[in-house]
Formats: sequence, structure tokens, C-alpha cells
Amino acid sequence: MIQLFIPLNFLGFVYREIREALINIERLFGLMDQPPRVVDRPGAGALVADGGAIRFTDVCFGYGPDRQILHQVSFQVPAGHKVAIVGASGAGKSTLARLLFRFYDVDRGSICIHGQDIRDVTQDSLRAAIGVVPQDTVLFNDSIRYNIAYGCPGATEAAVRRAARLAHLEDFIARLPQGYDTVVGERGLKLSGGEKQRIAIARVILKDPPILILDEATSSLDSHSEQAIMGALKAIAHSRTTLAIAHRLSTIQDADHIIVLDQGQVVEQGTHDDLLIRRGIYAGLWESQLRHAVK
Ligand code: ADP
Ligand code: MG
Repeated sequence: MIQLFIPLNFLGFVYREIREALINIERLFGLMDQPPRVVDRPGAGALVADGGAIRFTDVCFGYGPDRQILHQVSFQVPAGHKVAIVGASGAGKSTLARLLFRFYDVDRGSICIHGQDIRDVTQDSLRAAIGVVPQDTVLFNDSIRYNIAYGCPGATEAAVRRAARLAHLEDFIARLPQGYDTVVGERGLKLSGGEKQRIAIARVILKDPPILILDEATSSLDSHSEQAIMGALKAIAHSRTTLAIAHRLSTIQDADHIIVLDQGQVVEQGTHDDLLIRRGIYAGLWESQLRHAVK
């Protein structure tokens, strides 16, 4: 009996570890259920991302056959520009990001990067070209160093420290009991939302991709960490093609272009000033956020 129990326990342990890793990757993108498997087309080549120009053309999509979520969504992000997506919760903003990362394929229309349909290139090359700062960053039960270098296993100590510095994490790490060796995550030191977001920013700095997706945290951060995060985000978005999903409109005033999504449709677009003059949905959101800020 004892001989039988040991391997079974061990298998249980291995299974738990694998399952945890899978759940972590899904959570990284806010996916609750298992996405259907997207596969590489036979003979798919590597994406040539260049500056990472993005074009959505008449994209229609639903998670299932009975409910369409996106209706003929078209927009583009020229290389090096920052486009913000705003809209009420449930409008389909994160879905756009998941489609760009090709967790799902569009039902109709297309998504191209630097002129290549993302269904024609390998998923590895597509995902290597995109860095994500998600709404809720998942940490692994491991050291701060491991968590920053996650996704870039070959990163040197100097590169990890540089990324931490640019993500405004240096002072925070200096105060930890074991510095870079401090274990964080569910079973280690718990970090605040702002600290976790800065870890995600450090990961992106190490990865150095041409395209950036920012899914901003809804939770209000304290003003000190908000300042630190805004500074760090500005630094990484500069010179990258950026798709910023914004909840706090104050963070996207500087976007080159703003897209307003309502129930899966693009209903307004333009610069911050254009949209205020229109006095439409965006202007309404802006005024209500100003009122809340004053309170
Ligand atoms: P937003 O990011 O704008 O708040 P989402 O893109 O996350 O909105 O969601 C758009 C719609 O799609 C919502 O109605 C949501 O309930 C639905 N949805 C999101 N993820 C899934 C999923 N995995 N399966 C089915 N429906 C989903
Ligand atoms: Mg979302």
C-alpha cells in the first residue's frame, strides 16, 4: 500500500503544479473558461512585425454562436501610435485585445499586423511581438527576480535590474527583506495592485516588443502608485504601437486617437478634443469622471 501511495501523491503534486500554471496563463488575460484551440495554419511563417502597425477590418466575433459580441469593428493603429479604447464595462474592449493576441479567431473580417493577417503567421511569432500589461497581473509563487524575468528566461541580472528601475520598482525591492530573492504571490509576500502592475511593466520592458496592450486597472490606485505607474507606462508606450484599454480617461488624454466602443460597435472616434466638441458618449463619460474626481 505504501509503495502505491507515494507515486500517487507525487502525481497529484505534479498535476496540481501543471494545472496551476495553466490557470495562471489564462488569468493573465482574464479568461475564465478554456479558450477553443487556435492552431497554426500549415506552413505558417513568422510574423514580420516591423513597427507593429495594427488594422482591424470589419471584425465580427462572438464567444459562442448565439451571441455576437463585436459588430464590424474597424480601426487602425499606425506604427508607433497610441490608440485608446474606451466604453462601458462589457462593451467588448478586452475581447479586442484577446483577438489581437489570437486567443480566438474572428468570425468575419480580419486583423492584420504590418499588413499580415494574424491567421497566416505562427502564434509564437505573433505573441513574441506583443507585450501585455493586464488588468490583474498574476504572480507566480517565486522570487521577485523570477516574476520579472518570466517569459525571458535568459535575461541577465543587469537586464532584470534595469527593467525594475524603469518600472519604478527599485525602491520597493530595496525595502524587501530578501530583495530580489523575496518570494511573492499567494504563498509569499502579497503585493498591492499597483506593485503587481509595475511587475507586469518590468516584464514588458524585458521582452521589448513592438506592440503593447495595456488593460488598465479599474481599481483606484493610491495617488502615489498611480503617479509611479503613469510614469512607467509613458516610458514603455513611447515609440511602441500601443492599444490602451482605458477606464480612467485621465490616463488617455494624450492618445493619438480614441475609439469609443458601445455594445461591440465603434460609435465615436477622434482625439480627446474632437470628442469633447461632439458632446456624445465620450463627452458624457468625461464629465461624469470629472464629477467623481471632485467629490
Ligand atoms: P469589456 O472589457 O469591455 O468590459 P469584454 O470584452 O470582457 O468587455 O466582454 C464583452 C462581452 O463578452 C461581455 O458581455 C462578456 O460577458 C462577454 N464575454 C467575455 N468573455 C467571455 C467568454 N469567455 N465567454 C463568453 N462570453 C464572454
Ligand atoms: Mg475588460
